[in-house]
Amino acid sequence: MQTLMNRIMQDGNVLNGDVLKVDSFVTHQVDPSLMAEVGQCFAEVFKDYGITKVVTIESSGIVPAIYTAQQLKVPMIFARKSKSLTMDEELLTASVYSFTKQVTSTVAISSKFLTKEDRVLIIDDFLANGQAAKGLIELCQKAEAEVVGVGILIEKAFQSGRKLLEEMQVKVVSLARIESLENGKIQFLEGDA
Ligand code: 5GP
Repeated sequence: MQTLMNRIMQDGNVLNGDVLKVDSFVTHQVDPSLMAEVGQCFAEVFKDYGITKVVTIESSGIVPAIYTAQQLKVPMIFARKSKSLTMDEELLTASVYSFTKQVTSTVAISSKFLTKEDRVLIIDDFLANGQAAKGLIELCQKAEAEVVGVGILIEKAFQSGRKLLEEMQVKVVSLARIESLENGKIQFLEGDA
């Protein structure tokens, strides 16, 4: 997605050689027009896959996931990282190691929201080593829901996430694929959409 790549070039900042900061348009302050285009782009790719739910993980997956779900006209579910008092029903859980926070946490979705009839599109902001997406796939597997694909805004293709997900037989679609962040310079591969 050319607009996303242009915006990353314009406003993205490289930290420590392998982390990209996009807090002025994705992860903290959000550009709704750009996110609406992201939603349209994923919906166009996955419109014929019979998706019934869009699933993401809080917090920065929520915005792209909601725009995608709106376009596909299906509900969006975000896996929660901390258990709320109101989550008093049966939970599907998985452990996820966070690349940016470097801690393992349990993520949960109420089992009433995912069933074996569901065909799921997972959406997240970044793909690094694939642990967040893997945790969400495991949650869906516990519900016997089928994961049809994973949609990612920014894939860091120099990390191992895509390989891990493709080994799990899941289709991965990234809107911007970064080949390298070496020396603070952002270099792209062609995106999938
Ligand atoms: P993974 O689980 O694929 O290793 O990492 C993906 C998760 O870590 C995403 O949900 C995202 O929040 C975070 N993440 C990974 N790499 C980056 C990065 O370069 N920048 C930001 N802002 N978040 C990242």
